[in-house]
Amino acid sequence: MKFIDLALQQARIRPNIEKRILGVLDHGHYVLGPEIEELESRLSQYVGVSHALACASGTDALLMALMAYEIGPGDAVFTTPFSFFATAEVISLLGATPVFVDIEESSFNIDPVLLEAAIRDVANDERTHPVYRYLTADETLAPKAVIAVDLFGLPADYLAISNIAQKYNLAVVEDAAQSFGAELNGQKACALADIACTSFYPAKPLGCYGDGGMCFTNDDRMAEIMRSIRIHGMGDHQYDNIRVGINGRLDTIQAAVLLSKFEIFPEEVVLRNTAANRYETLIGSLSSLKLPKVPEGAQSAWAQYSLLAQNQSQRERLRSRLNKENIPTAIYYPKPLHLQKAFTPLGYREGDFPVSESCAGRIFSLPMHPYITAQEQEKVAGALNSSFAECPPL
Ligand SMILES: *Cc1c(COP(=O)(O)O)cnc(C)c1O
Repeated sequence: MKFIDLALQQARIRPNIEKRILGVLDHGHYVLGPEIEELESRLSQYVGVSHALACASGTDALLMALMAYEIGPGDAVFTTPFSFFATAEVISLLGATPVFVDIEESSFNIDPVLLEAAIRDVANDERTHPVYRYLTADETLAPKAVIAVDLFGLPADYLAISNIAQKYNLAVVEDAAQSFGAELNGQKACALADIACTSFYPAKPLGCYGDGGMCFTNDDRMAEIMRSIRIHGMGDHQYDNIRVGINGRLDTIQAAVLLSKFEIFPEEVVLRNTAANRYETLIGSLSSLKLPKVPEGAQSAWAQYSLLAQNQSQRERLRSRLNKENIPTAIYYPKPLHLQKAFTPLGYREGDFPVSESCAGRIFSLPMHPYITAQEQEKVAGALNSSFAECPPL
């Protein structure tokens, strides 16, 4: 059993992928070839926003969004400590300060109540947030933006987040690296904030065969700025540079792969949801496991199917039982971002974000992809059940 089975998907559409890649070899426009525009137009239509910009990775997509808002030293960007490192890395890379805000255990996404408290704290210079440990008494931060993450494919609570951001005049960036294909209140993920950023890393819901990403926005001006940033801050032509940017283009061959995979993507989202519902039916009665819950009005893209054990030792027992039956599992994420060595200069400590820390010690993910079979899921459920039978929870 595979944790994510990309080979089954490829077997289904291999001739089409080959045809698309050969098309690039034939026309020879390896950088910004016609497949890039075709992909941007297909995906912006699917998401329902006016601009899509293909770029080299999900990390670059986030970086380009923050650069477009001219985020830099002295700026506070609010985000979750329970995410992949890149979410906060781009904030530090620009010299700005990641101000972490704890998550809701029910969604693993940023807690809007705590978000407002943190923004108010920084905006009014109340200096109670742990981030003030690293600032000297005369240093202040200017609240600029929020990066909300749609963790494991489930959109964050953008209704609440946008309301708060509007009140304090902050930009909202959606880290949709894991949620392409998800929905919230009739809108697609990547259409839920001022700028949204997704990733086409192979294991993401829509993945290419290398690195890739995309920015989405309805804001004409931001789209134009990000288009310029993507090519070294280009102005009227390639050798006219009007700002400092990056080399953030997507390869044409990766766009060709994505165009081919996108043809079956909507169907794959349905298959992922079928698989998630089947897990719910099979293991929903195991009361000592907390299963992922999709709130009213939302649909997850199920990048991961992640559950919470009661404690770390129970989690390790369950994982080793699954492992014995050749069922792969993974832990996303074993260490919250505020406790990463790279961020020690920010002065965060254990205990600062207790929900994230507790989740990091109890969470694990089960095999999840569009082509997982009912038999495979029954085997997973059987292994979990027998582990509980051997060692019943308290
Ligand atoms: C994967 C991921 C990224 C980074 O995307 P890359 O394409 O790997 O650069 C950023 N944020 C989250 C939440 C991710 O899962």
